[in-house]
Amino acid sequence: MTVERTNVVIAGGGFAGLALALALRQSLGPRFGVVVADPAVARPAVDARASAIAAATRRMLETLGVWPAVAASAQDILDMVITDSRLDDAVRPVFLTFAGEVAPGEPFAQMVENGVLLKALLDRAKVDGLDLRATTVTGYETTAQGVTVTLGDGAVVQASLLVAADGVRSRLRDLAGITVVGWEYGQSAIVTTVKHERDHGGRATEHFLPAGPFAILPLTDNRSSLVWVEATEEAKRIVALPDADFHDELEKRFGLHLGALEAVGPRQHYPLGLGVARAFVADRLALIGDAAHRVHPIAGQGLNLGLRDSAALAEAVADAARLGLDIGGPDVLERYQRWRRFDTMTMGLATDGLNRLFSNRSDVLRLVRDLGLGLVDRAPVLKRVFVREAAGLSGEVPKLLKGEAL
Ligand SMILES: Cc1cc2nc3c(=O)[nH]c(=O)nc-3n(C[C@H](O)[C@H](O)[C@H](O)COP(=O)(O)OP(=O)(O)OC[C@H]3O[C@@H](n4cnc5c(N)ncnc54)[C@H](O)[C@@H]3O)c2cc1C
Repeated sequence: MTVERTNVVIAGGGFAGLALALALRQSLGPRFGVVVADPAVARPAVDARASAIAAATRRMLETLGVWPAVAASAQDILDMVITDSRLDDAVRPVFLTFAGEVAPGEPFAQMVENGVLLKALLDRAKVDGLDLRATTVTGYETTAQGVTVTLGDGAVVQASLLVAADGVRSRLRDLAGITVVGWEYGQSAIVTTVKHERDHGGRATEHFLPAGPFAILPLTDNRSSLVWVEATEEAKRIVALPDADFHDELEKRFGLHLGALEAVGPRQHYPLGLGVARAFVADRLALIGDAAHRVHPIAGQGLNLGLRDSAALAEAVADAARLGLDIGGPDVLERYQRWRRFDTMTMGLATDGLNRLFSNRSDVLRLVRDLGLGLVDRAPVLKRVFVREAAGLSGEVPKLLKGEAL
């Protein structure tokens, strides 16, 4: 059996895996070998979601040369409105509004359809000549020299570092014996796209309803992306409804402020939970993206956290490679873990707290949270802090997220 040699193997060519591969290629050049293995590089799965891309993430995608392919279909989020009401309330009073620029002309976030972003990353990976393999990573073994990785097509690749970017049910995380701290919410998010008569004006609306948040996120061409959270059984029931009944359920929550509605595109549902890996690294292994953490979509941060992992790991590896150090050694991995684990835990717990505070029918809690939202709404300094947090510009920001090359 021939054993191939490279520097890094990345299991998973989703958002986090491809962004890391591009960052390594562009900072360390073609002599630094990067293999990305994922059956989806040949057949990307249908993804009905769109993501709020924070300003810092957009700067990273610009630096990696991915943003030009996305820009025309990105919709700026110009402001955000939060309401708190029961499903059958005739009026949904607004408790909190954010006008969202981090710098003049730079919105704190933009909405991009997942399919568009994934295609842009993949196309750029092909242009940059990355070694993409349409197969899984099935196993690995660490040796004194490095890590020996087995692929589903029978190939065996030796590298200094293996990266698990293989999503929420990460096989590599399990193989490494890394457990996850977290819980299921018993909620699922229904996602679909809606076309409406009137322009949304770049406004994102989050209705906090007792079953969970109902988020209307602006897309281009008078369309909005929905993240509609319900108890899991109810979500399954709603997704399976005939079109006319689905439309009725939709209209009940969406309202008619944007005129007539039409659900377009596929409907999907995603079970929701919180999970943070007990360690982000093991011997010659680093976890990034959903393999390392799973957060509630209430704040639209999962993908942003994943790309922040990619930026931090790429920076740690590039710095070590330039000094001639072992890129899969404990110092590099510890630097990455220290950088990312606290940030992730904070975001995980913040989204968990928000979800618990809002997803319930208690009138007392409703009063407390509405008072809280009202206070935040009157505190411009606090709002600026929230906007910078949502834009991904607070904390120790990796270079790529500041728009700097590695
Ligand atoms: C309803 C919903 C709405 C969301 N909205 C937002 C939002 O607005 N903003 C935001 O920032 N985040 C959002 N998120 C979170 C975001 O979608 C995820 O965090 C993101 O998709 C994770 O990317 P990833 O690259 O880590 O994993 P994935 O996209 O899951 O990619 C993992 C890849 O690994 C591959 N793979 C799996 N096993 C193997 C293996 N053994 N070998 C090789 N490859 C393998 C898979 O084929 C897949 O391509 C949302 C999530 C949900 C559920």
